[in-house]
Order: sequence, then C-alpha cells, then structure tokens
Amino acid sequence: MADDPTPAPEDGRPLIDGFGRTISYLRVSVTDRCDFRCAYCLSDSVTFVPKSEVLRLEELERLCRAFVDLGVSRLRLTGGEPLIRPGFMGLARGLGALVHQGRIRELTLTTNAVRLREMAGELADCGIQRVNISLDTLDAGRFRALTRHGDHERVLAGIEAARTAGLTVKINCVALKGVNEDEFDRLIGWCGERGFDLTLIEVMPLGDAGGTLRSGQFLALDEVRRRLERRWTLEPLSERTGGPARYHRIRETGCRLGLITPISGSFCDSCNRVRLTATGRLYLCLGQEQSVELREPLRAIPAGNLAALHALLRRAVAHKPEGHQFVPGACPASGLPHRPMSATGG
Ligand code: SAM
Ligand code: SF4
Repeated sequence: MADDPTPAPEDGRPLIDGFGRTISYLRVSVTDRCDFRCAYCLSDSVTFVPKSEVLRLEELERLCRAFVDLGVSRLRLTGGEPLIRPGFMGLARGLGALVHQGRIRELTLTTNAVRLREMAGELADCGIQRVNISLDTLDAGRFRALTRHGDHERVLAGIEAARTAGLTVKINCVALKGVNEDEFDRLIGWCGERGFDLTLIEVMPLGDAGGTLRSGQFLALDEVRRRLERRWTLEPLSERTGGPARYHRIRETGCRLGLITPISGSFCDSCNRVRLTATGRLYLCLGQEQSVELREPLRAIPAGNLAALHALLRRAVAHKPEGHQFVPGACPASGLPHRPMSATGG
C-alpha cells in the first residue's frame, strides 16, 4: 500500500488540514441503518435518521468525486450496513469507474456479509477489490446473541462468496472481554486456512449500545498480543495506513494480523482520513464531535461550479482536530461522542 503512488489531485494542491496532515482517505457511511444490532454498536431501540435527511446516492457520489479531485485516493463504503441501501450497486459502479480510470487507488467495502452471497460477484465487477467483514465469533449461538439478529450461516456463506468472487477478504473482530477472548487462536487458524487477514479491534466508547457494554468489556490488545505470542510467531510489519492499526505477519499461517488500538495506542499524528455520514455531515475525527454540515451547502452549489465545491471541502477539512479524546473504558456520558459507529462508519 505505502509503495503505490497516490494519484495527483486535480488542481495540484492536496487536501491539507490545520496540522499539516494530508487527507487522502474518505470513509462514507451510505446508511446508518442495519439489519443487525451488534451489542457494542447499536441499541435494540435505536432510532435511525429520518430518510428525508439522507443524501441521495447521486449527492453522495458527487461529494466523493469532489474529494477525489482533491487527491483522496482511497474510498471505503461502510455504514450501518451499506448493502441494505436500495441502489447501492449504482453508487458502487459509479465510484468503481474511478478505479478503472486510475483516478483512485482503491474502493473498498465494510459489511456484515449477510448479502454477499447474492452481491459479491457484481461488487467485484464494479471495481471493489477488498472487503472488510465483521465476524466476532465462529460460534453460531454467540453470534446470534452478540448481533441480536444475525444469521451466522448466511454470513459464512457470504464470506465464501466473496472469496469465490476474487475479493480480498479481511475479517474484523471486536475484542470483547469475557465474550470472545477465548476464540482468537481459533479465528487466526480459521482465517489462515482461507488466506484471510484478521484485524482485532479494541471496543470504542461510541454511541449508546443499550448500556450493555463499555468499561467491563474493554480488552487492551497489548495484553491480547502477549497471549497470542505464546502460540503464534508475530512478526511486526512496518506498514501503516494512517489509521490506528498495526500489522504483524503470523509466521505459521502467512496471513496478517492487524491490531486496532484507538484507545491504548496513539496514531493521530499520521491520521489521513475523514468520515462522511449518510446525511452529509463530515466528521473529522472518530473520537471527537467536530463535524461540518455539507448537505445544504452542497445543494446550494450549482453542478458545474467545481471550484466552490472544492473550496467547501478545503474549509471543512481545516477544522480537523489534532487528536482523539478516548479514555479507556470511558462512558459516552462523559462528553465523548454519542453517535454510534454506524453513523460515521467503521
Ligand atoms: N455493518 C458493517 C460491519 O459491521 O462491518 C459496517 C459498519 S460497522 C459500524 C464497521 C466496523 O465497526 C465493524 O467492524 C464493527 O465491528 C466496528 N464497530 C462498531 N461499533 C464499534 C465500537 N463501539 N468499537 C469498535 N468497533 C466497532
Ligand atoms: Fe450493524 Fe455493523 Fe453495527 Fe453490527 S457493527 S450493528 S453489523 S453496523
């Protein structure tokens, strides 16, 4: 990744924030809705944003393309569950054209995999090369309890379909104390057999997931890494993606293990990303409330006036804060973001 040349911005000037960081990565939550209710993400009684506030898919694509004009070279479509949004494939096809034209380095997707059995082939055809799939447990009963609605078998079939379609699969697993911490060895072996990379994620104090989680389930990945090293040989890799992940090669499987440590690790000085919600709000940091409303300004800018749109994005990105405010085990009531990850996209 680090050796791929980044396509040059259209006007030659990259998108730079107030701390001199170049913004090259946009994550787009195409919907805040989801068919699961993962205990750490959404409460059973979640209220989704009214459809009237959601950007049309053409508007989302217009914003994405404007970011790309300014040098954003990686786009990730996420949610909520992106694949449940009607018309999603049209958006994927429109943005996938940017990959085929060499205007972006990659278009990726984060999904719970429920619909991949039907959609994986077409997604690959659109230009999506990699998918991150959430799978916190290999145990069907645990999976149902954790997701509250999830069909484990369908998810596994979706993962298999992605592999068959030639998509590079990475498994995301949120590490939860007392819930799935006994499964990481098994997950590493399972991923290794299939050639999948695995990323373990520290649970973040976002939103209101029904009060069932938080401090009691926070599991520091430094501790997990020490435990894994008793069984696996973890060779640190130098690559960074501008985010909170650190990578290791697992010698026994040949696959990579990512550890995402937003709470116990520090990564803000190299942060290269911003996040767009389905309503057109640009969040500048996962762990801060700073955001800029783009929907109405976007609608006010005539389609042909690219300069005004670019200026809007440059002004927005200038507000990116220096770093996050996460505190291990913190409760959202203490001033941390109230929005769930499904709003800004993981
Ligand atoms: N629905 C898709 C999925 O589950 O992959 C995409 C959206 S989901 C919000 C993206 C990622 O965020 C998932 O890997 C999920 O496990 C992770 N996530 C959600 N809430 C989280 C939290 N509070 N802390 C850490 N990771 C979280
Ligand atoms: Fe839905 Fe993904 Fe959140 Fe689970 S983690 S509730 S699948 S958005």
